Order: sequence, then structure tokens, then C-alpha cells
Amino acid sequence: MPSFDFDLFVIGGGSGGVRSARVAASLGKKVGIAEEYRYGGTCVIRGCVPKKLFVYASQYSEHFKDAAGFGWTVGESSFDWKKLIEAKDREIARLEGLYRKGLDNAKAEIFDTRAELVDAHTVKLLKTGQTVTAETIVIATGGRPNLHTALPGHELCISSNEAFHLKELPKSILIAGGGYIAVEFANIFHGLGVETTLIYRGAEILSRFDHDLRKGLHEAMEEKGIRILCHDIIENVEKAEGRLSVRTKNDKVLTVDTVMLALGRTPNTENLGLEAAGVAINEQGAVIVDEYSRTSVANIFALGDVTDRVQLTPVAIHEAMCFIETVYKDNPTRPDHELIPTAVFSQPEIGTVGLTEEDAAKRYPELEIYRAQFRPMKATLSGRAEKMIMKLIVNAADRKVVGAHILGHDAGEMAQLLGITLKAGCTKDDFDRTMAVHPTAAEELVTMYSPNYRIRNGERV
Ligand code: NDP
Repeated sequence: MPSFDFDLFVIGGGSGGVRSARVAASLGKKVGIAEEYRYGGTCVIRGCVPKKLFVYASQYSEHFKDAAGFGWTVGESSFDWKKLIEAKDREIARLEGLYRKGLDNAKAEIFDTRAELVDAHTVKLLKTGQTVTAETIVIATGGRPNLHTALPGHELCISSNEAFHLKELPKSILIAGGGYIAVEFANIFHGLGVETTLIYRGAEILSRFDHDLRKGLHEAMEEKGIRILCHDIIENVEKAEGRLSVRTKNDKVLTVDTVMLALGRTPNTENLGLEAAGVAINEQGAVIVDEYSRTSVANIFALGDVTDRVQLTPVAIHEAMCFIETVYKDNPTRPDHELIPTAVFSQPEIGTVGLTEEDAAKRYPELEIYRAQFRPMKATLSGRAEKMIMKLIVNAADRKVVGAHILGHDAGEMAQLLGITLKAGCTKDDFDRTMAVHPTAAEELVTMYSPNYRIRNGERV
């Protein structure tokens, strides 16, 4: 038996990497972990967490306006971008500290350096040039924004990375993309008072979501004053007297302060020594793994966004826990990627789990669609026109709820609980015999007694 410096060496200190390192170390394994930037990874440092803090910040403009309907007179309000950035940075530093402390407490050895594979058992730590060996290696290097280098003027644009550290809040912004990041940031910037335009190549934003939510959110965003250009893409970006001039495929010319590209993310697999170690990647550059997160090299595993699976923090953490079960608990466990609840922190929010109406119609011969669209109670006195949408997709054959979709406030919170019900295989009858919580918006989910329509063999009837 060869002896190694470490039982486990993890490359990448994000959600998947830190979890696998910390838990393996707490099981008594000798663990090393290397991170070239900051512990916490995209989610904590420049993703989910600071984004959600920005979402909260951006909601105040509407809260101040809505307060009048409830009798409040709110004095003059103003917003200080620098104060928000400072407060956000303090919180992120605190969280990063907790990530390091967790590793430290578990007695994992922390390396603040980029690490690259030399062979299947050897890792080079670039800061010192030192090499270490490990019996098992985890690659959890995550991803980064696609910089879209084919676009003329891409170097003048920012990505979500820079959006968290802009020196000044721009007066106007053009955001390219129609996915999670584009939609969330369009709402953030708009809420903070920035003149915001979204440009998306397809017919409707959020291509993988249920059509009712996509349309409902699009309308709500436009109603607020966000301009949305569909069926269009940026053709080039040029400097124009301190601002940026953007020409689109449809021959529109827009002059804005900032252009942000949110056109998907690329796995971080370059110059990692994957070839030297024999780790195979796919055409998109993602590490290829089997159903247990094992790469083409038996002792090397890959977790999270560096693989081509679902790019979500809880998924990376789940994959890490399955890796621990498989490798250190003699309990081979495949990550379960079925029925992942998810939220888009747009304004209004989207919360969803399971199949869209379109996908369910392809899978089941007959569906019952329950749908409610209503003005939430808070909007009555605030005078806000925003509508909430709730939708349940039910397989008529066994009455199972196969999709649940919500547009409206707290939709993300509801999606978490709906995730449990769908995972448990609840039927529409289970929903029907559940008592409503009154007065809430969520009670609509258990009071939609008859289907609004059915889908039979893909046709609405
Ligand atoms: P998404 O995959 O969500 O969206 C990418 C968008 O870019 C899509 O609208 C896509 O269009 C468009 N696009 C891709 N390539 C091009 C191109 N060449 N020209 C024009 N448009 C293009 O990626 P994001 O970058 O928004 O986010 C990355 C991932 O991070 C998400 O998939 C999600 O998993 C995760 N995330 C999760 C969040 C959450 O849980 N709330 C928040 C933020 C990110 P099309 O749809 O037509 O393909």
C-alpha cells in the first residue's frame, strides 16, 4: 500500500469543496484543501449570498412607496451604494471566516493557493511550488461567468463578479441574458434606481421555467419600468464619451453607463493538470463524472459546477455528502437530481419545483392544470398592481402533483416546502385535505378545487 501525505485533497474552497473536506476531516481523515481566491466560493463570495443582500436592499424603494397606503408618511429617502457595498463586504468576510473556522475545527489543513494536478495522486501548490500526494482527490473548482469573448467590445462589459464591487452605481445599465442572473440583477438595479434594460435572444425570459411564470414576470417587470428586449442580442459595444454605445442585431442603438453580460457560466477546468492526471472533460470543458461523481480516474472525484450537472449550491453540497457516503462510509450513494426546488429572486419572486406544464405534457398522456392568479392582500392597500400566480400540474392517472410553480412574494420560501410535498409523492387529494392557513397567499395552493383546464396528449382541452 503506497503511503500518501493526505487521505483526501480537495481543490476548490466553494460549497462542494469545503463540505467534502470538512466532513471527511471530521471523520478522522487527513485532509488538505486549497483555494486560490476566497473560501466560500461563488455562492458566498460573489453569488447567492451577496446577491440576496442586494435583493433586500433593492426592495426598499417599493416598500417606501407602498407604506403610504397603510397610513405612513415616509420622509425623503436616499440610497448610498458605497454603504451597501461596505456592509455586504463585512458580512461576506464574516461568512468566509466561518467557512475557514469550520475547516480548521475539523482539522483540515487549509492552503491559500492555486493547486493543479501533476498526476492522479499528486497536487502542486503553486504559491510554494510544493507537491503533495493524496489517496483521493476532489475537484471542486466551480465555474465563472462566460465572458463571451467573440463579442466585439466584451472587454468593456462587466459580469456578475464585477457587479458586486462597482465603484459607483451606474445611472443606466443594459443586461444581456434571460436566465437567473440577468433577471435577478435587472430587478436589483431597477430597485436601486438604475434605468435598466434587459436584452434576451429568445422569445421569453427564463427559458427553462413554466410559461405562465415567464409571462407573468415579464409583465410585472415591464410594469415596474424595466425595459425588456426579446429576440435580440448585442452585436457590439463601443466607448462613447464616457458611456457605452451598444448596437443590437435588430439595429437598435442604446447608450448606457454599464453593460453586464449574464450569458451562462463556464466550468473552471483550464490549466488544472486534468490531462496530466487523465481526467476527461466534455465539449463544454466540464469534468465528466459517473453517477457517483467519480471522474475517468478512479481515485479522483468532481463535485458542483465544475461538472455538467445542476449549477446550484445545495446540489453541490448534496453531491459532497454523497461522495462522503460513497468513499468514507462504505455506502455507495448517487446524488439525487430529481425534483430540485429552486427560486429566482426576481421581484416578484419565482419559486418552483418539478415539471413545467410543457415538460409534463410530453411525459404524461393527461394532466390537470390548477391555476390561480390574484392580487395579494398587501397589494390592496398599497395599490400595487402586481399579481400572484400559483399553478399545480397534476398527472390525471394517479393524481400526483408533478409540478408546482409560484410567482409572487415569498415564492422561494414556499418552493422549499412544496419541494418536500412533491418529493414525498403527494397527490392533489393530499393538497385538498390539507387545511388552509388563513389569511396567507399560500392558502391558494390548497383551495384550488377544480382544474382550470386539462392537457390530453399534448393538447389543451
Ligand atoms: P442561465 O443558464 O440561467 O442563463 C443564461 C442565459 O444566457 C440564458 O437566457 C441563455 O439563453 C443566454 N445565453 C447563453 N448563451 C448565449 C449567447 N451566446 N447569446 C445570447 N444569449 C445567450 O445562466 P446564468 O448565467 O443566469 O446563471 C448560471 C447558473 O447559476 C444558473 O443556471 C443557475 O443554475 C445558477 N444560479 C442560480 C440562482 C438561484 O438559485 N437563484 C441565481 C443565479 C445563478 P437561452 O435561455 O436561450 O439558452
